[in-house]
Amino acid sequence: MATDVVTMDRIVSLSKRRGFVFPSSEIYGGVGSTYDYGHYGVLLKTNVKGEWWRSMLQERDDIVAIDSAIIQSPRVWEASGHLAGFSDPLVDCRTCGRRFRADHLDQAQCGRRPSLHPGEFAECDLTEARDFNLMFETTVGPVRESGSTVYLRPETAQGIFINFKNVLQFSRKKPPFGIAQIGKSFRNEITPGNFTFRVREFEQAELEFFVPQDGNDLEWFQQWVTARKKWYSDYGVRADRLRFYELTPEERPFYAKAGIDVEYLFPWGWGELESIAHRGTYDLDRHIEYSGKDLQFFDEASKAKYTPILIESSAGMDRTTLTMLIDAFDRETIVEGEKQTERTVLRFHPKIAPVQVGVFPLARNKPELVERAQGIERGLRPAFRTQYDEGNVGQLYRRQDEIGTPFCIMIDYQTLDDATVTVRDRDSMKQDRVGADALAGYLSERLG
Ligand code: ATP
Repeated sequence: MATDVVTMDRIVSLSKRRGFVFPSSEIYGGVGSTYDYGHYGVLLKTNVKGEWWRSMLQERDDIVAIDSAIIQSPRVWEASGHLAGFSDPLVDCRTCGRRFRADHLDQAQCGRRPSLHPGEFAECDLTEARDFNLMFETTVGPVRESGSTVYLRPETAQGIFINFKNVLQFSRKKPPFGIAQIGKSFRNEITPGNFTFRVREFEQAELEFFVPQDGNDLEWFQQWVTARKKWYSDYGVRADRLRFYELTPEERPFYAKAGIDVEYLFPWGWGELESIAHRGTYDLDRHIEYSGKDLQFFDEASKAKYTPILIESSAGMDRTTLTMLIDAFDRETIVEGEKQTERTVLRFHPKIAPVQVGVFPLARNKPELVERAQGIERGLRPAFRTQYDEGNVGQLYRRQDEIGTPFCIMIDYQTLDDATVTVRDRDSMKQDRVGADALAGYLSERLG
């Protein structure tokens, strides 16, 4: 696939046309950079999250799950440092009235001369940069009074740290072990953009892995980098568009011993998908200090108490879903004799494809074909994500290609004679004739 076939215009329009992602509140003119997921987007993102959970819970026995609240005690954000320091540098332009992130000026467009960056046009009049806290504030209870201010969580991780003791008590785990969570986070981003890449509400998948103070912490960090590399490659993300950028000591927080940003080559350039960090004992130490509670681990064997070291993997599920869409996107020219047609196809890995098997009758006005097709589709449902559809054959294939369905099954007149069906492979477009009773085996072998 040529790299220039995928553009954001194509992704955005396909997303809307095929029901992956819609601009939010569109009938009221929209709210900037806020999106709603349509049916296929929900399925895709659910599958991406499901595969993340599978890798954390099903394939290992050293991680437990949690689902913590979005609104937490404001003290949590004091302890975590978000109240004091979770800000981006904001500059205003007095000429065009726009706001920019001071550290992203080279990626922004001047309000008056879009070909220039803010500050480059002679009439630009930028203010000094000032800190802008990214946390959304709201109030709890019926009266807006002091002490009622709370925040929408800007990350899910703190919900894990504050439950560390609860988890230890019931789970019978001891370091090394992890706590994993997927949930919504909120950040009042100064300059959201690039479709669902930078939005103000998004889902994060975070793993906090607690390891003993036995000198193997950097080894654990490396193990997690390897595990996460494997995760992306298991779902077919192109290796040449993925990189693991090692943060320099200057780029890391002072308490972090190592850090890697997982980055994908989006149509506009490299962007972060996930960060993997060695966070030392910083987070638990801070909560011990602010809550006054003992969050250390008591090791029965050595009779010693210690604060476990933390290895964190923090991935954005909206960014990962967008990556899967972009990475799967392809357009190709099909030559049939004299005729040339273009097709758009999403080459999703079968594990994350919203629909795995499409089933159609050759003609919708032939009850015996329709019945047979519906029966076959129902029979496959327990094992696969299926969809029955009917209509013009060319359009049926086109629609399934554009939502990335790996296999389509056509029920035709021959099916009525010899109980075989046609199975079309999305990527090669090759068709196989398969016995209806052998279909489930045929598909499970290929869908994995
Ligand atoms: P960025 O530098 O892009 O703002 P960050 O370094 O602040 O990201 P983290 O705090 O490390 O991001 O959050 C972990 C992950 O959460 C990111 O790698 C990303 O996938 C996701 N994420 C963070 N902010 C957003 C956002 N505004 N929209 C969508 N996903 C986000």
